[in-house]
Amino acid sequence: MFVQQDVKNLTHESLVHWLGQYGVVSYRADQILKWIYHRGVYSFSEMTDLSKDLRRFLSDRLAISRLEPEQVQSSMDGSKKYLFRLEDGQNVESVLIPERGHWTLCVSSQVGCGMGCKFCLTGRGGLVRNLEPSEIINQICAVRDDLEDPRSLTNIVFMGMGEPLANYNSVVQAIQIITGNNGLQFSNRRVTLSTAGLVPRIDDLGRDVTVNLAVSLNAADDDTRNKLMPINRTYPIEMLLSACRRFPLPSRRMITFEYVLIAGMNDAPGDAMRLARLLRPLRAKINLIPFNPYEGAEFKRPEEGAILTFQKVLLDHHYTTIIRHSKGGDICAACGQLRARMSNGEPGEAKQITG
Ligand code: SF4
Repeated sequence: MFVQQDVKNLTHESLVHWLGQYGVVSYRADQILKWIYHRGVYSFSEMTDLSKDLRRFLSDRLAISRLEPEQVQSSMDGSKKYLFRLEDGQNVESVLIPERGHWTLCVSSQVGCGMGCKFCLTGRGGLVRNLEPSEIINQICAVRDDLEDPRSLTNIVFMGMGEPLANYNSVVQAIQIITGNNGLQFSNRRVTLSTAGLVPRIDDLGRDVTVNLAVSLNAADDDTRNKLMPINRTYPIEMLLSACRRFPLPSRRMITFEYVLIAGMNDAPGDAMRLARLLRPLRAKINLIPFNPYEGAEFKRPEEGAILTFQKVLLDHHYTTIIRHSKGGDICAACGQLRARMSNGEPGEAKQITG
């Protein structure tokens, strides 16, 4: 009996290396991964272009994991929320968001999160554990299997539960599989990672893979950001924006800055002016996310007028500025909420989708 390794934890390169130890030629890795990611096969016995001996050899030593949703909830706005139970009984969730003619999937990278952002429910519970690459990949595979047209899932965003850069190695491996030719074949233009601002890892990310970067900024000065995001005490705004300036952006791409608008905290026109000045040296676009109150939350959502005024200041400074609302409010679809409901057995908790 062998200890089975999950093939979905292996990138193409690592599978080639693994097979090489047993004298299996490298192009077998291409065949195996195409069966798994292009044809959606979950058993080596179905890989008919491999010899029977090789199929048996692989079945003994490698497993092909899968996740099946334990619960799927559809929202009036067209979004769908998937709750997955992992092998150790922990839950993660993914949110499928309708866009014009295609779908975007928001995936989780950790169970819980250790960043402690004050406006985020997931942050309150702390970090439980990192996800393995396979647990990230399987969120995508399961949702794709659930879609009538799997090709309509075109965009992946790491904005669900967890700080992706705090689970760096797994997330980078997952991105390699998501964008790889032998993997899920998503265009790297359509994969976005959102971070609260782990500065050294932003530099690593720019070196290791090509993806879009989103930064959960939420304030235009350090005093306010310190109150909202403890990570700002380690990596204040100027350090964070320097890392953004160093980030190797392909031509015509921009960094997205996410800004949760909170009444009386960061929503004044003066904050918008400061934000506009702050981002001037960058190719930046801005997503404004009005705070989505949850029971026991210490913050309030701004009035509609304040949200529009804030947006207008940024538009007047020629930033693409979109107001984003948490999708699926009627099913508590902001990331983190369904999991909280499942584990507490009670409704009514929410987290902003900001990663
Ligand atoms: S907003 Fe993102 S980084 Fe901050 S605590 Fe929540 S999940 Fe973590």
